[in-house]
Amino acid sequence: MKTRHILMAFAFILLTSFLLIIIFSRSSEERALAQDNAVPDAGLNITVDTPAPSSESVIDVNPAPTKKPIADEKPDIDISSWEYILANSEHNIGKYAPTVVAIEDTAQFFDERAVDALVDFLNAARAAGYTPYINTAYRPYSTQEYYYNGKASQLSWPDYPDAEDYAAAALLVAPPGTSDHQTGLGVDITDKYYSSLDASQMNSEFLDWLADNCAQYGFILRYPSLRKTITGWDEPWHFRYVGVEAAEYIMKNNLCLEQFVEMYK
Ligand SMILES: [Zn+2]
Repeated sequence: MKTRHILMAFAFILLTSFLLIIIFSRSSEERALAQDNAVPDAGLNITVDTPAPSSESVIDVNPAPTKKPIADEKPDIDISSWEYILANSEHNIGKYAPTVVAIEDTAQFFDERAVDALVDFLNAARAAGYTPYINTAYRPYSTQEYYYNGKASQLSWPDYPDAEDYAAAALLVAPPGTSDHQTGLGVDITDKYYSSLDASQMNSEFLDWLADNCAQYGFILRYPSLRKTITGWDEPWHFRYVGVEAAEYIMKNNLCLEQFVEMYK
């Protein structure tokens, strides 16, 4: 009898401790789980588990906020308006001839709708301590034709120019109808004391000032070095009126006029 009691008591103790062990392990599992859930941000684990996360791994983990900031919306404009007229080898403007007026007291002319903006731009340059000089502004179709034919003749001399000579000339002088100067909105601005159209001979500080400040007067750099593969030209002195809204957008996004016009097709 005694032995039986002892055995029963022993079995009871065993069962009780077994139950206690199960209950204890369950609750500690739950606690551990609760702890995991309380730290949903895996940031701590990443720094412990992976060696110093690079910027790429950050993008993988969390792509949305690391995206490049979206550039401003393109201006809400009518691309067929006169300010955006595009003259280049693929867009010949024929004999387009705007109404032009003299720029200040020079022998150079500009579209009458944009001449005030140009004068403001020149005055701002003077106020900044520079001495701007209008090298060339409006160039009518006939003048462009004269220059172009002259260049072809020069290349073929002493023979008459053939198609090859005209093609070669087109790389040096824009054929009539394809020059930005014919729009009446393009202008070559140089320094009064460094007036040759050779970038290495020019006042680069002044050219930088013009590029940095042109947009607020409605002008863009028409042939930026960065876009020579598109425009065919690299002229740090050639500015083009397009209006303030388009100019701010184009300069901010380092575009050329060709790219800007393309965005509205
Ligand atoms: Zn020019």
